[in-house]
Amino acid sequence: MKYAAHITDLVGNTPLVKLNRVTEGVTDATVLVKLEYLNPGGSSKDRIARNIIDAAEREGKLKPGGTIVEPTSGNTGVGLALVAQERGYRCVFVCPDKVSEDKRNVLQAYGAEVVVTPTAVAPDSPESYYGVSDRLAREIPGAFKPDQYSNPNGPLSHYETTGPEIWRDTDGKVTHFVAGVGTGGTITGTGRYLREVSGDTVRIIGADPEGSVYSGGTGRPYFVEGVGEDFWPTAYDPSVPHEIIAVTDAESIEMTRRLAREEGILVGGSSGMAVVAALKAAASAGPDDVFVVLLPDSGRGYLGKIFNDKWLRAYGFGNAPAGHTIRDILA
Ligand code: PMP
Repeated sequence: MKYAAHITDLVGNTPLVKLNRVTEGVTDATVLVKLEYLNPGGSSKDRIARNIIDAAEREGKLKPGGTIVEPTSGNTGVGLALVAQERGYRCVFVCPDKVSEDKRNVLQAYGAEVVVTPTAVAPDSPESYYGVSDRLAREIPGAFKPDQYSNPNGPLSHYETTGPEIWRDTDGKVTHFVAGVGTGGTITGTGRYLREVSGDTVRIIGADPEGSVYSGGTGRPYFVEGVGEDFWPTAYDPSVPHEIIAVTDAESIEMTRRLAREEGILVGGSSGMAVVAALKAAASAGPDDVFVVLLPDSGRGYLGKIFNDKWLRAYGFGNAPAGHTIRDILA
């Protein structure tokens, strides 16, 4: 019989698929996307959750009956909840209010408790999602805070799994790796591995929502979820990426919608953002170049937002400037 003993045994080994239509007339390079929504919890965050909890158990930071407390935009929560339910831990997650209700409902479906905080406060405010989660981690007995923003086991999971998978599945032919930057764990771990294994020939490109600190912004609000920051997390090693490309919300949303309609790939806004950055870089690449773009999660969590014309119009994306064809899509 062929089966996995535990749901967490199914994390990783996600497939690569080639983009065919959105690349037409843009690049001669091969652009492959890695479908992280095929992880059991639906995102790349399953990888870090499993690795962080394994390490916490080994180090005695998480004991039987313990509680996991984490500020998370949803995907890390799902990954943590999946591992926690398998092993009998309680979960309390703190989310900013811009996170879609669908995503919060998923966390609750896994049996987690969810606390919602305002997005429009400074990261060092006691009301911020970082501030609230710190307080809960102090107050709840037996609490363990994975802290995906600083836990080295996050980037390490990508160094140990995502990077080797990409190298193996491309037979070492990958020339560029592109990923959105949130905590920075994906780009740091995967990028470091690919640089090392290739003799430093793979080019590592970060994608960042315009306004976020990684591409020189101040941290002003933007819509794409899960990426960009208003501070510099230690999970991110800025020496790993060669380049960071800023992408506007309008560009990210448009590409996310095109991926679903033209490629049959239903993914979230940070995936659209990463593909925009990849195509910008691939525009000057040659036919022998092989881009791998990591797509972190599914579009199912965003049906009421990015895929909802009424929601887009309400936020002004129906009036996007010329060149941003959201307007055409909604016309
Ligand atoms: N996209 C989504 C939807 C995410 O939830 C995350 C994680 N915050 C990322 C991209 C970025 O990944 P990382 O934190 O590894 O930089």
